[in-house]
Amino acid sequence: MRIDILTCLPRLLESPLNDSIVKRARDKGLVTVEVHDLRDYTLDPHRTTDDYAFGGGAGMVMMIEPIHRCLQSLKAQRTYDEVIYMSPDGEQLTQSIANQLSLRQNLILLCGHYKGVDERVREHLVTREISIGDYVLSGGELPAAVLSDAIIRLLPGVLSDESSALTDSFQDGLIAPPVYTRPAEYQGWTVPPVLLSGNPSKIEEWRHENALERTRTRRPRLLDGE
Ligand code: SAH
Repeated sequence: MRIDILTCLPRLLESPLNDSIVKRARDKGLVTVEVHDLRDYTLDPHRTTDDYAFGGGAGMVMMIEPIHRCLQSLKAQRTYDEVIYMSPDGEQLTQSIANQLSLRQNLILLCGHYKGVDERVREHLVTREISIGDYVLSGGELPAAVLSDAIIRLLPGVLSDESSALTDSFQDGLIAPPVYTRPAEYQGWTVPPVLLSGNPSKIEEWRHENALERTRTRRPRLLDGE
């Protein structure tokens, strides 16, 4: 899989894409992630990517030309499944969207900044818009990193324990059950004895019951099949 991220602030993406599971996936060649600086696609000597909004008002707007030129150069090299604009008013990211996107070959993620992008980018150049929640951040870089992480950890071979992503919350329609590790007792706080019993079927039963209970109290809508 390949993910190309378009941004006017590439440094914001350095750390999230160069550590932990995402870094390991890149090192193993399971995913290629390329960050493109939109300033490299401007035609003016000052490498400006934004301008004042027509009609006035506070806040700059990202210009269409550098975005279009960058997209054209990428699309000349390969076919993309989606051009995704990270946007607070897009469809809200869920596990099922991450699952779906993890099956694609080539994705482009476009990060806005300031007031956002010229609306014609959204009308003509983007195929999908995704939000990471109903709140506004300063730029699309952190949302793009969130989406990339959610996708990349699902790719076969990325997580060392293959079944691990499948037992995470939302994946099987349930919230994950509580987990504990050593010591079995800490300051008088103990671990549920069944987890120390060595009885796999009892442990499985306990986990399932607790997953159900957590789902009932924390995300009841999952039990309605939503
Ligand atoms: N004026 C816009 C917000 C712009 S925020 C509005 O009111 O809707 C600047 C950029 O940050 C956006 O272009 C988008 O790319 C990104 N962004 C901010 N919040 C986001 C969120 N919740 N999900 C995805 N992207 C977001």
